[in-house]
Amino acid sequence: MNDCLFCRIAAGEIPSTVVYEDEMTFAFRDIAPQAPKHVLVIPKKHVADWYEARKEDDALLSGMMRAAAKVAELEGLTESGFRVISNTGADARQTVKHLHMHVLGGAELTEKMG
Ligand code: AMP
Repeated sequence: MNDCLFCRIAAGEIPSTVVYEDEMTFAFRDIAPQAPKHVLVIPKKHVADWYEARKEDDALLSGMMRAAAKVAELEGLTESGFRVISNTGADARQTVKHLHMHVLGGAELTEKMG
């Protein structure tokens, strides 16, 4: 989708600070970090949210989880720990309608998640 912000970032049309990339996924620094380390992991294919993902996207979904773990490793978070969040829909305040996971860490995070 060429009007999708994250599709355009994954395609390199909009600049980002890339942390990790593989065949299916792309990971880059969040523009408004909410933790010392805040990286977004997205599928290169446009999938709006978890509900739009289909059975044929299973490899892509597991690939996103593996990419999040790789990001944590690259960011030096494996010992200290990290949090993965994926906002979906209005109540969760999803602002970009392209499936993504936030990888947060680099400091002790708040106890409250909601
Ligand atoms: P969400 O609110 O869960 O949909 O997350 C969207 C995230 O995208 C927010 O944390 C934004 O700060 C981040 N964001 C928006 N535009 C950009 C951009 N151009 N580069 C990096 N991150 C962005």
